[in-house]
Amino acid sequence: MGNPKVLIIYTGGTIGMINDPETGALKPFDFEHLYNSVPELKQFDYELEAYSMDEPIDSSEMSPSIWAEIATTIFDKYVNYDGFVVLHGSDTMAYSASALSFMLQGLKKPVILTGSQLPIGQIRTDGKENIITAIEIAGMLDANGESIVQEVALYFEYSLYRGNRSQKISAENFEAFDSANYRNLAEAGVYIAFNSEALFRSKLPALELKTNFCTDLALVKLFPGMPIGSIAPLFDINQTKGVLIESFGAGNSFSNPAFEKLLTNYITSGGVVLNVTQCVTGKVDYGKYETSQIFSKAGVIGGADMTTEAALTKMMFVLGEDISLDEKKRRLTINLCGELTYTES
Ligand code: ASP
Repeated sequence: MGNPKVLIIYTGGTIGMINDPETGALKPFDFEHLYNSVPELKQFDYELEAYSMDEPIDSSEMSPSIWAEIATTIFDKYVNYDGFVVLHGSDTMAYSASALSFMLQGLKKPVILTGSQLPIGQIRTDGKENIITAIEIAGMLDANGESIVQEVALYFEYSLYRGNRSQKISAENFEAFDSANYRNLAEAGVYIAFNSEALFRSKLPALELKTNFCTDLALVKLFPGMPIGSIAPLFDINQTKGVLIESFGAGNSFSNPAFEKLLTNYITSGGVVLNVTQCVTGKVDYGKYETSQIFSKAGVIGGADMTTEAALTKMMFVLGEDISLDEKKRRLTINLCGELTYTES
């Protein structure tokens, strides 16, 4: 067996940005600049190769078509590498990590997303450690010669998180991510300590590429006193195929007959409504409070302990599949790639 081979896919983000001399604002720059700013990469006893997106972007510009491009690149080059590192802006990294976990099902190799809060060219950058350790993890094999990580993960500031459980929690701290409802996959100190029971293992025999995402979706965050008229246009099957609701606590809502009617009519006409909690930890638990009945009565699906990022991208994936409406609804409730804690009801 030779040295591990890792492909670095550069999409942009702060890690590779420089200051625009005219405006002073940070803007994406090419991979060459990033590579030259981390001379340590040349010391790796791994074979490193790079693939750069045509135009590096700030991750606020990320889209399902770019996710498809990243996923297709990994799928096409899958047999040639032991692991993949995706350099990505931190702002939407949790969405991309979630989306890629649904696009690339059946992984037996790691896909590690990372980036930084400060550009690689700045003295106090957090980017160097992030990229070096992400690459190291992407090439790590166990005693049987199999990849230790076999899923989409996100590495940031000494922690490795499951991609579809991660969320950006700080716009300023180096510790910018968290995975509040699931254990971290690893901690990097002197040693990289993996939490082996937490690692995902797919039952699929081979890697499957699923890029047909449905984007006719809306996201509604409830608040006390919300005027139902303001969200009514979203619950129209000619406008959306699905709506994700961020509800209160364990999946609760105000008891508003107009809201209940809106939900019932939309679901009867073929719309799919999924419910996740606004809380950082815990899950949607119908029946715990009377105020969850509005959802269970109307047929709103409980999203268990999924993050908003995972729930939204899972809806994109599931609603884009060529399967019956009932099967789509069923798949939203089960665990596909570690995104939710499944409890048999
Ligand atoms: N705006 C940047 C981005 O997401 C922030 C970062 O990379 O940390 O591309």
